[in-house]
Amino acid sequence: MPVKSTFQAILEARCPRCRQGKMFVFPLLKFSRFSQMNAHCPHCHFRFEVEPGFFIGAMYVSYAMSLAIFMVVGFLVYLVFDNPDFYYYIIAIPIMVLILLPFMYRYSRVLFLYGFGGVKYEDEQTNSRLRL
Ligand SMILES: [Zn+2]
Repeated sequence: MPVKSTFQAILEARCPRCRQGKMFVFPLLKFSRFSQMNAHCPHCHFRFEVEPGFFIGAMYVSYAMSLAIFMVVGFLVYLVFDNPDFYYYIIAIPIMVLILLPFMYRYSRVLFLYGFGGVKYEDEQTNSRLRL
């Protein structure tokens, strides 16, 4: 199997150790089950929750994403409607955050695991040596 770059593995929400196994059970666009996550990597059996409550920290990443969406949507509403009434912002920003909720939920966890999980990439040869 071709080696995935870190960027590609993050984009596809793959395991940070093998970059092969999927972190989430269902695809992103399956809105009813977007949050269902594999406990272990289906490829290398790495435990995604590296310590109890680890993904609570992903809340900070999610907060930063929400803030970015808040600012971008607010700016776009300002430009498109030419400095509209306050209610335009009150309606547009929460709608956009709700639409992007599955995306933020997943990528906050993926980015937090890649950034703060302390997991190093191990290629196939390293993995097979560890299993012996
Ligand atoms: Zn893996």
